[in-house]
Amino acid sequence: MRVLMIAPPGAGKGTQGALIASHFAIPHVATGDLLRDHVARQTELGRAVQERLERGELVPDEIVLGMVREAFVAAKAAGTGYVLDGIPRNIEQARAAYQIALELEMTADVALHLQADDGELVRRLLARAALEGRSDDTEDVIRKRLAVYREVTHPIVSWYGERGILVSVDAMRPAEAVGREILTALEVMRSLIDHVPEGARRPVDLTGLGDAFGASPSDAAG
Ligand code: ADP
Repeated sequence: MRVLMIAPPGAGKGTQGALIASHFAIPHVATGDLLRDHVARQTELGRAVQERLERGELVPDEIVLGMVREAFVAAKAAGTGYVLDGIPRNIEQARAAYQIALELEMTADVALHLQADDGELVRRLLARAALEGRSDDTEDVIRKRLAVYREVTHPIVSWYGERGILVSVDAMRPAEAVGREILTALEVMRSLIDHVPEGARRPVDLTGLGDAFGASPSDAAG
């Protein structure tokens, strides 16, 4: 299974990425974690990106694309898929990552979009800030990261829709419920992937499920 995730900060990419990785026994490649590790170790790359990370700005594309190439090469050598978390974040990265993946015959089977609104995201990120103290989890930087997401990352969702590999889920619910829905959707997709070429598939939008099956008073009565 080869999956990439597109989600605003705080939507649960890290949690769901880890779940997908363990369910399918595939590596979880999180560009944010890799970058923070470089900063913690004060490598040359870490020192070069530290300020951008702390301001909530994107780091240069070639840095993260290099990480993705390495991850694709390693996954191919190990004969596994992957779950990408944190990349692509703009249309240039999306196109470049696609070219690299085409070259290595490792293109994504599913682009998983986690949808959540800003009020909930800010609340979650501030709660995480109190627990983990990540240096980019201050309110100003959180707002900056959300703005970057809305302006440059979210527009790539439709590009994956056109490619026929998009699956959207509602990430506003508890992590366990979101995780169950994601694994169910991916298991269903898995059997499709080998039989239906991506150009012939339709985007899968599960974001209305909460409303369709939510516990409204009439449901409770019926
Ligand atoms: P979040 O999604 O919660 O903002 P991440 O851990 O995915 O957190 O990313 C943290 C930071 O790492 C980003 O704000 C950005 O500075 C940098 N970063 C991660 N992935 C990329 C990427 N693909 N392109 C550019 N910058 C990135």
